[in-house]
Amino acid sequence: VRAQEAIARHARLVDDFPSPGIAFKDLTPVLADAEGLSAIVTALTHGCTDIDLVAGIDARGFLLGGAVARELGVGVLAVRKGGKLPPPVHSITYDLEYGTATLEIPADDGLGLSGMRVLLVDDVLATGGTAVAAADLLNRTGASVVGVAVIMELSGLRGRETIARGLGAGVPVHS
Ligand code: IMP
Repeated sequence: VRAQEAIARHARLVDDFPSPGIAFKDLTPVLADAEGLSAIVTALTHGCTDIDLVAGIDARGFLLGGAVARELGVGVLAVRKGGKLPPPVHSITYDLEYGTATLEIPADDGLGLSGMRVLLVDDVLATGGTAVAAADLLNRTGASVVGVAVIMELSGLRGRETIARGLGAGVPVHS
């Protein structure tokens, strides 16, 4: 309830961004609010066990992911947009509604990702394409994504179903 109140109070709706006809949900002010951040991290980590690593998706997923990881007592990994990380990287390019996007993580055995149980964290779940692409990347390291946690789910876009198809119906989506 505290998290829902914080979202209702602070979230901003921006019409026609990033393209005409799209109503962008801007959660930046929710994360910038002390109570908002605290309530959201508490809600997202409630009942969350058996996680070895949090992976935060570029860029608000970084902010949230670090806080969620600290709460769970695990480390955090940034899933970055293409071109930001030094080589070697695992890279995936996937389709968006208009065009494509690329995500990358380090391809570094020293990170010890193999066998890790990973919680994927982002601000908004829309079509689910980003979450599935990020999970594909992590799976290449031998890690497995065992849960997805987001602040807000745009349920009309059926991201939850896309995740069930891409990652298996057993992977919980918490929004
Ligand atoms: P999807 O791949 O369609 O699920 O889009 C999810 C990705 O796009 C996430 O990384 C979100 O941060 C971003 N995104 C999509 N729609 C919104 C929105 O309305 N507000 C903020 N971020 C969004």
